Amino acid sequence: MANKTLSGKTALVTGSTSGIGLGIARSLAAEGANVLLNGFGDSQQIEQLQADLAKEFGVQVAYHNADMTKPAEIEAMINFAGDKFGGVDVLVNNAGIQYVANVDEFPVEKWDAIIAINLTSAFHTSRLVLPRMRKNNWGRIINLASTHGLVASAGKSAYVAAKHGLLGLTKANALETATTGITVNAICPGFVLTPLVQKQVDDRAAKDGISNEQAKKALLADKQPSGEFVTPEELGALAVFLCSDAAKQVRGVAWNMDGGWVAQ
Ligand code: NAD
Repeated sequence: MANKTLSGKTALVTGSTSGIGLGIARSLAAEGANVLLNGFGDSQQIEQLQADLAKEFGVQVAYHNADMTKPAEIEAMINFAGDKFGGVDVLVNNAGIQYVANVDEFPVEKWDAIIAINLTSAFHTSRLVLPRMRKNNWGRIINLASTHGLVASAGKSAYVAAKHGLLGLTKANALETATTGITVNAICPGFVLTPLVQKQVDDRAAKDGISNEQAKKALLADKQPSGEFVTPEELGALAVFLCSDAAKQVRGVAWNMDGGWVAQ
């Protein structure tokens, strides 16, 4: 156990009851990190998830149901991490939602929710975990941005604005910690087949009157030259690298893993 790279460390992955967050939580647990899960879902399934992760990787796994739109709940979650594990060493700001509509038809409450979850929550978690990381002179903050942090798509104004903002936060925080053992970076995935993207596949299938498989291919053909989805496991491996000693001079990057999306 002791030879694993993250043994004795604690990772908080927001939005880790599903998709990419769960993939990253699994990869960090496989490296020996204790994990604090967060996100919505069926409470029995979440309990099962906790038990399965703990058993598979021999680490401690806890869960907090903080709603990432609510600063007081975020603070309660960070305090919970302190009580349970002594604090957070690896913070992965992953919780995120999507809504697709042109800006003149964009529901105001959807705009507010996307900015709160996809951008502002990372400000709150970061400001709350940094004092302890500074005291330890070690920490890793990984912000799950998107190719939409680097380029735009029509219909995704709130998401694109939030993800561009998240890259700005990443760079500023990386500079503020540049002389310390804390690094702050962002990962920019292309399409990953999670519930967030499955909804876009379903909408495309309904709109164009095509099958689920055809809609997946069409979505990828629009944006992702590889024609293949990125996987949560691949993103988990990148997160593990960013947590490693070898990555200690990787600071303030927006690392795309996107099947060639932004190379076009
Ligand atoms: P997902 O829908 O599978 O998972 C989202 C997670 O966030 C879930 O655990 C959900 O419960 C949680 N969540 C949602 N609202 C929350 C709230 N208010 N408070 C706490 N938790 C909340 O989505 P995903 O595709 O795994 O997305 C994860 C992150 O990756 C997001 O930030 C997303 O923008 C980003 N991303 C996804 C893709 C993709 O193609 N799927 C691509 C680029 C970036």
